[in-house]
Amino acid sequence: MRLHVVGAGASAAHFALTALERGFEVVVLDVGRTRPPAVSPTASFGELKSELDDPVEYFLGEHFEGVVLPSDETEYYGFPPNKAHVFAAEERFRLASEGFEPLASFAKGGLAEAWTGGVYPFTEAELVDWPIGWDELRPHYEDVARRIGISGRADDLAEHLPDHGGLMEPLRLDDHSSSLFSTYEKKRERFHALGCRMGRARSATLSADHAGRPACSELGRCLWTCPTNSLYTPWLTFEELEGREGFTYLPGRYVDHFETDGGRVVRLVASRDDGEQETHDVERLVLAAGTLSSARVFLESVRRERGEAPRLSGLMDNRQVLQPFVNLRRLCRPWEADAFQYHQLVMTLAADDPRASVHGLVTTLKTALIHPIVQSLPLDLKSALFVFKNAHAALGLLNVNLHDTRRAENTLELGPSGELRVRYVPPADEPTRIGAALRRYRRALRMLGCFVPPGMTHMRPMGASVHYAGTVPMTDEARPLTTTRDGRSRDFENLWFADGSTFPFLPAKNLTFTLMANASRIAATVS
Ligand SMILES: Cc1cc2nc3c(=O)[nH]c(=O)nc-3n(C[C@H](O)[C@H](O)[C@H](O)COP(=O)(O)OP(=O)(O)OC[C@H]3O[C@@H](n4cnc5c(N)ncnc54)[C@H](O)[C@@H]3O)c2cc1C
Ligand code: SF4
Repeated sequence: MRLHVVGAGASAAHFALTALERGFEVVVLDVGRTRPPAVSPTASFGELKSELDDPVEYFLGEHFEGVVLPSDETEYYGFPPNKAHVFAAEERFRLASEGFEPLASFAKGGLAEAWTGGVYPFTEAELVDWPIGWDELRPHYEDVARRIGISGRADDLAEHLPDHGGLMEPLRLDDHSSSLFSTYEKKRERFHALGCRMGRARSATLSADHAGRPACSELGRCLWTCPTNSLYTPWLTFEELEGREGFTYLPGRYVDHFETDGGRVVRLVASRDDGEQETHDVERLVLAAGTLSSARVFLESVRRERGEAPRLSGLMDNRQVLQPFVNLRRLCRPWEADAFQYHQLVMTLAADDPRASVHGLVTTLKTALIHPIVQSLPLDLKSALFVFKNAHAALGLLNVNLHDTRRAENTLELGPSGELRVRYVPPADEPTRIGAALRRYRRALRMLGCFVPPGMTHMRPMGASVHYAGTVPMTDEARPLTTTRDGRSRDFENLWFADGSTFPFLPAKNLTFTLMANASRIAATVS
């Protein structure tokens, strides 16, 4: 019983692991760019700055490629040089886009080599458009939680984040997050009257030693890749899988298309990094290359077979809006370098339709590249640095996520020279939804003692959240360009989709925990 899997990201990792545990022989083909070795693994952020021979090269890159230059579109953070392998362009994967800024990764571990580790289960209400419900996903959430280690707690967010089991104690709150949370606890009733709840983040970061990995030692280097692997990435699962019998990892392969006998996939065609083409005879094929890349492989295969490729519709992504804030009680205080760097609190907004609730991630500023913030202040450099220094410990960012639905106008198709054309049009009610959410969040932030600086709210472009889904949806209705509830293609009987392609709805929530759980669920049913 052999399976070929395309891709080595979060989806592929947990598909492959479950399939291997079931006794399948698993062969993974991946472009497989790999991370550089960890530098001084036990040094903290501050120690790195003072001890490295060339800290500027480490933090900003040999050619200053980590520097974010000022522009109207500037994000509040950039990616450090040691994440270059995650986002390096792949010339064989060509994209053209309209209304969407797509991001793809060809790394071993995929996009989650750069993720912030937020892991949020979907609720029963958020699964209402899916052909499966909470009971079918829950055991897989639990399995994945035990595999990767998730810290968090059942608290005021219990309705929003249902209990799946396997949680570890939450991470220690950094000082700023702790002060925000204690203010919330004192005013809890007023927050609830606003339909706003706050709770501890769920993080794929260890609060205690687990599965051979150490607990987070608060080195504050998360953005530069956790050197102790306390923060999970799928790369770790592949490192573990490579030692197991029945598992083969083939990096350096870009899968272009598959060939069929009409109804079944028979062969996979890949090009190697040396330019040579190779084929692999296939019994069962699993596309887990990320929603965009899986679609391209599928469309290219159909085009070669039938002379024309269909158009896939229903592409979804979470709109994200970044709302910086200043906690007035923390001005002129020292800032904390030795702490977990990413978000530690979540603030949700309830809605009449529970599918439309809003998910806000609260990150307090600790270690980070500060120049994108300093240069965005409407002051000269000297004054901006002075203000920033005194405000550092008071600064935070609320990342507001909105839900998305499958709509016919959001499409993927092949262009004349084989490029993947992505087209996205936001829903008509989006400005109203964003306006309403930001107003409620501003009130909530004021109740926390925080000031929202005018003119600094940043609407990220569609595509920036990298929560892509929905192009080959799972449904119980037997239609082409869909899958069964178990991710099996209705176009080719031995083909499965195990990434976000099959999601019928995208709640306002980071989706990767569900990608992993759903991939594991699909692997548990493959025959
Ligand atoms: C900065 C950042 C922060 C994020 N934070 C979070 C977060 O906190 N929580 C969360 O839930 N999500 C987060 N995400 C999103 C998350 O990383 C992705 O949803 C997730 O990694 C997608 O996993 P995937 O396996 O489906 O696809 P990918 O990660 O896209 O993996 C695709 C894999 O397929 C391989 N591949 C692609 N095409 C081919 C081909 N043609 N041939 C061979 N191999 C191929 C690639 O090499 C790669 O290994 C974040 C993303 C970014 C960029
Ligand atoms: S703070 Fe970040 S980099 Fe440091 S050990 Fe914890 S997860 Fe890793």
